[in-house]
Amino acid sequence: MQTVYTFGGGANHDDPRARDKTVTGGKGANLSEMASIGLPVPPGFTITTEECVRYLQHGADFSDDLRREVTKALIHIENTVGKRFGDAADPLLVSVRSGARVSMPGMMDTVLNLGLNDETVKGLAAVSGDDRFAWDSYRRFIQMYSDVVLGLDHGLFEEALEIAKEDRGYFTDTEMNAADWRSLVAEYEAIVKRELGQPFPQDVQAQLWGAIAAVFDSWDSERAKVYRRLNDIPGDWGTAVNVQAMVFGNMGDTSATGVAFTRDPSTGEKAYYGEWLVNAQGEDVVAGIRTPQYLTRRARELSGSDKPSMEEAMPEAFAELARTFELLERHYRDMQDIEFTVERRKLWMLQTRSGKRTAKAALKMAVDMAAEGLIDEKTAILRVDPMALDQLLHPTLDPEAPRDVLGKGLPASPGAASGKIVLDADTAETWSAKGEKVVLVRVETSPEDIHGMHAAQGILTARGGMTSHAAVVARGMGRPCVSGASQISIQLSERTLTVGAAQLMEGDTITIDGATGEIMRGQVPTIEPELAGDFGTLMEWADRHRRMKVRTNAETPDDCRKARQFGAEGIGLCRTEHMFFDAARISAVRQMILAENEAGRRRALAKLLPEQRSDFVEIFTTMAGLPCTIRLLDPPLHEFLPQADADFEELSRTLEVSIDHLRRRAAELHEFNPMLGHRGCRLGITYPEIYETQARAIFEAACQVTARGGEPVVPEIMIPLVGTRRELAILRKLVTETAAQVFAEREMQLDYLIGTMIELPRAALMAGEIAQEARFFSFGTNDLTQTTLGLSRDDAANFLSAYVEKGIYARDPFVSLDIEGVGQLISLAAERGRAAQPGIKLGICGEHGGDPASIAFCESLGLDYVSASPYRVPIARLAAAQAAL
Ligand code: PEP
Ligand code: MG
Repeated sequence: MQTVYTFGGGANHDDPRARDKTVTGGKGANLSEMASIGLPVPPGFTITTEECVRYLQHGADFSDDLRREVTKALIHIENTVGKRFGDAADPLLVSVRSGARVSMPGMMDTVLNLGLNDETVKGLAAVSGDDRFAWDSYRRFIQMYSDVVLGLDHGLFEEALEIAKEDRGYFTDTEMNAADWRSLVAEYEAIVKRELGQPFPQDVQAQLWGAIAAVFDSWDSERAKVYRRLNDIPGDWGTAVNVQAMVFGNMGDTSATGVAFTRDPSTGEKAYYGEWLVNAQGEDVVAGIRTPQYLTRRARELSGSDKPSMEEAMPEAFAELARTFELLERHYRDMQDIEFTVERRKLWMLQTRSGKRTAKAALKMAVDMAAEGLIDEKTAILRVDPMALDQLLHPTLDPEAPRDVLGKGLPASPGAASGKIVLDADTAETWSAKGEKVVLVRVETSPEDIHGMHAAQGILTARGGMTSHAAVVARGMGRPCVSGASQISIQLSERTLTVGAAQLMEGDTITIDGATGEIMRGQVPTIEPELAGDFGTLMEWADRHRRMKVRTNAETPDDCRKARQFGAEGIGLCRTEHMFFDAARISAVRQMILAENEAGRRRALAKLLPEQRSDFVEIFTTMAGLPCTIRLLDPPLHEFLPQADADFEELSRTLEVSIDHLRRRAAELHEFNPMLGHRGCRLGITYPEIYETQARAIFEAACQVTARGGEPVVPEIMIPLVGTRRELAILRKLVTETAAQVFAEREMQLDYLIGTMIELPRAALMAGEIAQEARFFSFGTNDLTQTTLGLSRDDAANFLSAYVEKGIYARDPFVSLDIEGVGQLISLAAERGRAAQPGIKLGICGEHGGDPASIAFCESLGLDYVSASPYRVPIARLAAAQAAL
């Protein structure tokens, strides 16, 4: 198998493997593609991801094929550029970069200027006619190589640079002249010698192979592993390595470097967006050391900056860049994230990829691009990650609320976040694990901070632009972020922070607004999001393309209203126990449970009947004729038992029995394993009067609402935790008889359905039998997961993360369905249920009903609907459409 693919120059770009991300990684595949459509790409080659995997499996050993092919590919670069690698008179310099299938912070990123040594640096100086540039490039190379390849602390080099500037009375790097850089190079070399006991590698081949090995090794670094775990990226993909001829953005004032997006990645607006620096190399822009300038005149004017934009300072190069943007968008039919360099007025493209974007931007771009005819409606639907909608559905800061604005930075990732200030990633993680909401505040972030950024509600940095690490990662994670807030200074040793004049401490609450860049004291109130506009348009398209219905899990009129606003087409699960837990009713519920006999229970139930009925009246009214599945009481009686002394005292007064007696009764009802105890339909079997009362409340409410006119209510009554046909048969009879009684009393007749949850393995296996008694099945995948995996849904959190970390489960099975295992039971139950009763209605109402991967599985089984909590309804609508496409 070919291990290396060349691009640029006269390279042949026809081999599809060269443009296959799984082989040459995202960066490599796109470099090859850009070169093939005639864009100016410096020549280079890509080592395949397969070689990385091979290398890591073979104890860090390069294959002979690889050595041979790299040597050949290097000659391709040399011949194209007309320089030789290691030539003391006119050296070829290369960059070495990693590039996995998906962009992955946490891995070794880039080494620039590789090929410089004590001899070639002089050749570079002579050929470029610029001593300062040559020695600056060399010191950058030593610094980067030592950091990422040799593993030395970059702080050592930064400190030496700071001292060098201080000694000379300089403030900025630009004041350093050729001789200054040259003497710094000597210091850098001394640092390497001192730290490693050996000199900085002078052999350019050794430099190259060292860098290749470092890229491969970085695939298995801790940081990369954390990132993979958080983003569900398999460990066996490996990374490609890209070696490319250097072009220089730091050859004086006609040279520059920049990063750009073809549209605004934060808002989605169709406007070029980016940052650039004159006389600089790529890392200067993203490292946040020099503050970059705006790309376009408009962006500069909007910001009020007086530093010229690229459009103004380098109009020809900018015009060519703009042409390239258009070409790339048309070619890839998506927003591109680009790195470029201008070397002495000539534009070079270093990278392009589909740009990361906020949910808001993803939505706007999908809708806009479809309107522009760049993509079709289906592609637009597929462009938006359903989970990312979450960012849009949640509240934003109330514009009317008072704000104590302490300072302002760049609006790097939208959304509002309030939380306690934490000053490092580890603290963010520990505090958040204790249930605190935190905002991570750093000078700047690096890949080591990823776990803390993930744990935080939002991120605030003192340095770095809109394309800094913090900004890019936060947008990807959907965390609000304000970056480059220069009024912030952090006193890490005192764990304090000043924002302008305000002094704050770690633990103080702040609010950041990622849409405006504002930093505010305390917690600022929020308002509900706007659901019309692009969101409404995309949802409309999704609704046109999905097959499954989307219902909601809701039991309060508020939740029902919210879910309907979000587009729910009915209730898939109304958990009636939530009505029992109501503070005003709990006493009657306890009386019912602690009663010694049926008469006692009926007395308590009589108090609950009107309350339940009025709940159902409200729900049916709110849902206005949409189907409503109401589940009869499910949780273990155990859960309703009084705990506190005051509860026992109150009950003792109401029931006029002694506290001792009540305590004895409570002890009798105590269960060791309540989730497998006296719950679900077992309650209906043992205390039929409970289900009878609930059924009566439902039917009376349905009659009442229907009698008022409007759409007739067709209640769907659902029996939980059924394992046998006989259970369901007994309870069906009870519900049917109750319905008949109510209809006779009210002189009305309504349609209704009786069905069951499938949430026990036995129920799934016996679905053919059970279906004889049921008009519908609803898969209760929470309990089905719990009972199939033998994994307590209430206790598993403590150890489940270890299981996911070790890859025992790819994802938390309570969040994303265990399709391999639990999925088999669902599939089998659907098949047996349908065989026994063609047309039986099938749905899912466990948490998985709001998880896109699980929704795709439901689509593959042809289920009729999914049901999700209100905020997940739009996610489910989009995921269901994507699954159907
Ligand atoms: C389920 O078990 O999946 C379900 C929806 O019911 P509950 O979560 O109320 O047990
Ligand atoms: Mg359940």
